[in-house]
Amino acid sequence: MFRHLVAVLRRRRSGVRMGLWKRFQHQMPERLKQVETDKDPEFSAMVLYYYHRAAQTLEPELIKEMEKYPHMKVEERQARVSAILNLIGSVSTSVEVNFPIVRKNGTYEIITGYRSHHVRHKLPLKGGIRYAMDVDENEVKALASIMTFKCACVNLPYGGSKGGVRIDPKNYTVDELQTITRRYTMELLKRNMIGPGVDVPAPDMNTGPREMAWIVDQYQKTFGYKDINSAAITTGKPVHIGGINGRNSATGRGVWKAGDLFLKDKEWMDLIKFKTGWEDKRVIVQGFGNVGSFASKFVHEAGAKIIGIKEFDVSIVNPDGIDITELFDYVAEKKTIKGYPKAQETTEDLLTADTDILMPCATQKVITNENAGNIKAKLILEGANGPTTPAGEKILLEKGVLLVPDLYCNAGGVTVSYFEYLKNINHVSYGKMNSKKTSELIHELINSINESFQRCPDSAIPQIEPNKKLTRIRECTTEADIVDSALQTVMESAAIGIKQMANKFELCNDLRRAAYVYSSLKVFEAIESSGISQQ
Ligand code: GLU
Repeated sequence: MFRHLVAVLRRRRSGVRMGLWKRFQHQMPERLKQVETDKDPEFSAMVLYYYHRAAQTLEPELIKEMEKYPHMKVEERQARVSAILNLIGSVSTSVEVNFPIVRKNGTYEIITGYRSHHVRHKLPLKGGIRYAMDVDENEVKALASIMTFKCACVNLPYGGSKGGVRIDPKNYTVDELQTITRRYTMELLKRNMIGPGVDVPAPDMNTGPREMAWIVDQYQKTFGYKDINSAAITTGKPVHIGGINGRNSATGRGVWKAGDLFLKDKEWMDLIKFKTGWEDKRVIVQGFGNVGSFASKFVHEAGAKIIGIKEFDVSIVNPDGIDITELFDYVAEKKTIKGYPKAQETTEDLLTADTDILMPCATQKVITNENAGNIKAKLILEGANGPTTPAGEKILLEKGVLLVPDLYCNAGGVTVSYFEYLKNINHVSYGKMNSKKTSELIHELINSINESFQRCPDSAIPQIEPNKKLTRIRECTTEADIVDSALQTVMESAAIGIKQMANKFELCNDLRRAAYVYSSLKVFEAIESSGISQQ
């Protein structure tokens, strides 16, 4: 009888627990459920969907982690995990600013801009500023969230942010763009939304070193006139005002490195029946702006054949491969790939053309459930932010495609931004203090060994020559070399982390979920250990 009572009580208690567990089990928010099949989901819904899916995978692990608090009841642990996961699923602050400008022709115009801070678990926050007509608050919030996951993915100590101004920059003169940028900067500074220790913008769509320089100047002449770290208010600046060598090509370089780290890995290549390495791989790239052009250049130098480039105004193909170095010269002169004589124009949609590797480096939502079924590439490298919709991705995963997701694949830009930020707050450029010394050390070490050998009676001892690797280390003295090697380290360690998560949670070829799990875990741990109510 007693035993029976105990059993009933136990069942009841576990029933209560089961009930609570169900209540706390991380749910995909109702409004996001249709994203999985949606042809054209809102971009913000897509990003949240990807996050919540990862949160569902991760939650049991996080609850287990809470066992480090033996004084907490099971329900309390679950509630804490659930609260933090929901916090990561929301945006902490977002501002809209509206201000007037006087156009060159004397007319007035009201300009609208935004800046969003996702989670402030690490400061400063970090994220670009884009100028485009489709900028709106939801999009900026979503892009801010991607930045959090991107920074966590490559282990950068930043929270995520993003900004945007709703203009088509082609319709404004350079002077007008400068006025808009400076006024937007002031509006954000007044609200403490940017600053070297608060939130550090960088280039994004349609902005570049020029805009970053205007922002620095505006800050230095106003709020930042006494700030010794004032140059660190933006990254992606021109080198002569504190920018870093290698930032301009960094995102494209990162896309190549991300691809390289999978292409070198036999186990992952076996999964898609690829031989390892770039040699003879056919590549199609969408977008030949900053990201697509540099990604193409590095991939081409690594031995792959760029057989097609899809731009917004024209698509060009050459089955023997396009010489990207020559194309760079052509584009520098003509400002377009149109008319490039060593390739043919085509009306075929290159996203679905026959190729081994596809690099969408233009914009969001270009791979959807409408074209995913026709995509021939086995490896997709997401240079753009959000180029694949969840419904499109589902089809690709079922087809066994390996998709290296944006939050990792295009993180090279923000990684080198981080190096630039460190350069600014340290007030010294890379290599200035120790490059020469390291190079001399290697040189002298080899000389000493050779001299010692010469003193040996056996004259058959050969001269020691540094091998390729050692020569590379000895010659890694310029800032650009140091940046490249540091970027390599960052991309390698993130690739290891993502692959581990994919294996641990048995996610097969779903690298996006693995990357979100990897990042969300780190964001979760940072918030959890610093006290959730302080966020
Ligand atoms: N806008 C870039 C991105 O989306 C770079 C951001 C940064 O460097 O802060 O990753």
